[in-house]
Amino acid sequence: MPKPLPDPITSAGNAEVKRLRSLHERKFRKQTGLFLAEGTRICAEAASLGWTMHRLAFLAGREGDRMVRPLLEALERDRGRPLPMIESLLSRISRKDNPQMVLGAFEQRWLAADDITSGPADCWIALDRVRDPGNLGTIMRTADATGARGIILIGDCTDPYSVEAVRASMGAVFNVGLATMTEDEFIAFAGAWPGRVTGTALPASMDYRTARYDGPMILLMGNEQAGLPDRLQQACDQVIRMPMMGRSDSLNLAVATGVALYEVLRNRQPASQDG
Ligand code: SAM
Repeated sequence: MPKPLPDPITSAGNAEVKRLRSLHERKFRKQTGLFLAEGTRICAEAASLGWTMHRLAFLAGREGDRMVRPLLEALERDRGRPLPMIESLLSRISRKDNPQMVLGAFEQRWLAADDITSGPADCWIALDRVRDPGNLGTIMRTADATGARGIILIGDCTDPYSVEAVRASMGAVFNVGLATMTEDEFIAFAGAWPGRVTGTALPASMDYRTARYDGPMILLMGNEQAGLPDRLQQACDQVIRMPMMGRSDSLNLAVATGVALYEVLRNRQPASQDG
């Protein structure tokens, strides 16, 4: 028998509403170890992948909806708290005029260096001081699409668990591993990596179509403004460039990562004939 639901929340002063709203701020995400994900599909995927749900805010009256019911069951398994509420409060929490019908608060997960596997098919992406949450979310989405294992965040990066990064990842945040390292830690890690570390930089002499992508791999991308510093380039086994034919001097970071990841995939997996 599912537990009876509490009364719908109608006041913006409610402590649970305030706590969920505070998850827009990095300080509170750090303090609580939680983050927000929006939408029934994404929350259901997270629950099916075993992510722990602490709270489920949803539109009061929709508890019988076929997409909401399994989420409430998953929440009960996780001993989380259901929070039925009026639409304007979902808007306040998501800071959107047309909020999704559900918002979940999930527990963050961080990998340790030992969790970064180096099997022959493993590909990881390392991002040096990535600043833009939209870029980071897009890179998580592309990593997921191309079968990369996850992302190593080097130095002072934007938070992958921010609402903006999670939104841009379209749920991929739940399917890619995330680790953080200082620049020094990454250089030591790269030195002991059994496969190739492939950097990307504009003045690099090697065309990305001529590089080698077999074996365990780390694809290292530079910062949006500063590019990849010399010290990190020196930690690489090869540094590649994508040709720039027009007047722009560089690609957007997420686009460059996507081009490189699909080249990795093309080298590792024969194309299927079914289109
Ligand atoms: N002004 C920066 C610079 O000089 O490197 C531009 C940085 S770019 C916006 C961000 C990152 O995307 C770069 O550090 C590099 O990792 C990657 N990138 C962008 N365009 C690239 C290209 N044509 N070839 C290789 N890497 C590229």
